[in-house]
Amino acid sequence: MTSSRAVLSGALAAVALLASACGTTGAAPEGELPARVDGARQDASVARLDPDLRSAVRAAMRAAREDGVRVEITSGWRSREHQQRLYDEAVARYGSEDEARRYVATPDSSAHVTGDAVDLGPTDALSWLSQHGADFGLCQTFANEMWHYELATTPGGRCPEMLLDGTGRS
Ligand SMILES: [Zn+2]
Repeated sequence: MTSSRAVLSGALAAVALLASACGTTGAAPEGELPARVDGARQDASVARLDPDLRSAVRAAMRAAREDGVRVEITSGWRSREHQQRLYDEAVARYGSEDEARRYVATPDSSAHVTGDAVDLGPTDALSWLSQHGADFGLCQTFANEMWHYELATTPGGRCPEMLLDGTGRS
């Protein structure tokens, strides 16, 4: 799919520009270390994910590793307080709530708060996932967040059309 390749390179540029669209591509906030499902570290951000999503991510990680690609979870479940802080930071950065909601969901609308979303990386993993994620039911849900995945189809199914950004949901 040539179009997805174009989307990918565009999104990569967006990643560089918007250091932390859903609050996770920058450095982890103090006290919140990034979680790695396949490493020794297992914290609440992984433990409190929806079990089906967690299983799907683990299966994808195993398959990716066979292709020589390492998939990491850069952010999983978040407390309402954490999400509120990310949202407040986005409002300050983008100047208005309307603009902020394109990049960061409110605690009431974030799939991270319900444990139904993961942010994955690094970029070679995202490239792999854009081709193979649906094999595990994992879909990128927002066109402007190439790292944000949710369980949105059955394994091997077809991912729903991406929303342009987070405003389509809030
Ligand atoms: Zn996300």
